[in-house]
Amino acid sequence: MARYDYDLITIGAGSGGVRASRLAGRFGARVAVVEELRVGGTCVLRGCVPKKLLVYGSHFREEVADMAGYGWSVEGVSHDWGAMIAAKDKELDRLHGIYMNLLNGAGNTVLDGRGVVVDPHTVEVEGKRYTSERILIATGGWPSLPDVPGIEHAITSNEALDLPQRPERVAIVGSGFIAVEFAGIFNSFGSETHLIYRADKVLRGFDEDMRIALTGELKKKGLHQHPETLPTRIEKGADCYLVHLSDGEVLEVDAVMYATGRSPNTKGIGLESVGVELADNGAVKVDEWSRSSVLSIWAIGDVTDRIQLTPVALAEGQAFAETEFNNNPIRPDHDDVPSAVFSQPPIGTVGLSEAAAAKKYGALDIYVSGFRPMKYTMTENSERGLMKLVVDRASQRVVGAHMLGVDAPEIIQGVAIAVRMGATKRDFDRTIGIHPTAAEEFVTMREKRPDPENVAAAE
Ligand code: NDP
Repeated sequence: MARYDYDLITIGAGSGGVRASRLAGRFGARVAVVEELRVGGTCVLRGCVPKKLLVYGSHFREEVADMAGYGWSVEGVSHDWGAMIAAKDKELDRLHGIYMNLLNGAGNTVLDGRGVVVDPHTVEVEGKRYTSERILIATGGWPSLPDVPGIEHAITSNEALDLPQRPERVAIVGSGFIAVEFAGIFNSFGSETHLIYRADKVLRGFDEDMRIALTGELKKKGLHQHPETLPTRIEKGADCYLVHLSDGEVLEVDAVMYATGRSPNTKGIGLESVGVELADNGAVKVDEWSRSSVLSIWAIGDVTDRIQLTPVALAEGQAFAETEFNNNPIRPDHDDVPSAVFSQPPIGTVGLSEAAAAKKYGALDIYVSGFRPMKYTMTENSERGLMKLVVDRASQRVVGAHMLGVDAPEIIQGVAIAVRMGATKRDFDRTIGIHPTAAEEFVTMREKRPDPENVAAAE
């Protein structure tokens, strides 16, 4: 008889947990997956997928306006928010079904309820105990909100994706991925949208040129930005919310949304009591194999707070399953992970920002090109894009590629392959462009940006 009920119990059926569990199942392991909400996790149910559907939905407004430049006249255009949310929910139900089928198809057992680790080989779910040789923590993260008077009136991205009606006026706090993406959604749908953030530009940590360019483009699109500002208090008015800002201004809005980061979901699932070491922010500390300080317990995805991106969780889940259940040791690789911000316009990026590359490599060659998308040349749309290559001067390797503009995430995915393969600027230059596209700019940038010290000397 088997020593344990299962070979693997996974707590959390998000992208990472499902990938690891169904692969382990395919490799012959007996797997149970515990989920207290719905199978699918943040990305499918409360993040990437519904968010991107709303980005698409909101962008049509601008496209309708652009049509006039091509001779179309469009009258009587209106938007039904409720119909869109219902269509989005239908799509999420479909995806949830696919996830359930994937787990069932791999022979996994789904246990509904909250999983609590009671010893290194036992998980309790709804009062019943199950034993397992290995336990995988894949519980993800949850929005974290600062302690501001009136914060109970604020919503997060969870609720923003399910609002019964679109707020005519909305204040969004933060300027990271989620804040700028939702600011774009509400602004494009026509809501009066305020973005309140403590930095001087959006997207701290991104390449400075991209930050400057996106901050400017958002302004052109009518977004009200409040940089270097924080809410000091949120007050409920008769039929609105009053957001008191640190500069003395008071905003009257219909919804206040906080997008101030996400914390690992490790509270109340027994980890500390069985000796799993957590970082100060609650993240499970893991080694390069995603193993925690307890030998029979691993963790992957946002709960480890390595890189909070779905494809990274998938890669970590896959590496875990291959290593533990297919005798194929793989360490997840966290270098040069490309990412995108679905702001309007969007950003795609891979490798290092100029500042980070300068720290690592010293002298750099920088190539920057600003452009007006061809599609907009016959329209009133004044949106502009920006592309940038960061090149290590000594080796001529392209160590960073960044783009702001239409289709940037689609374009950067391909560029990321070249960057990861160690392509040099000459490799880029030798590649023939596809004309006419914006992407061809990445292989036709010939003029280096003058070094700042040379510019200063010449002045
Ligand atoms: P981010 O870490 O990207 O941004 C957090 C923002 O909140 C920053 O602007 C930060 O300001 C601000 N902030 C933090 N604490 C406070 C505070 N106490 N008061 C005011 N502002 C504060 O987190 P998000 O919540 O936007 O997203 C979480 C993660 O989810 C992202 O890091 C990303 O990995 C992932 N994600 C990825 C997406 C994608 O791939 N497209 C989309 C959405 C999320 P400051 O900059 O000053 O520190």
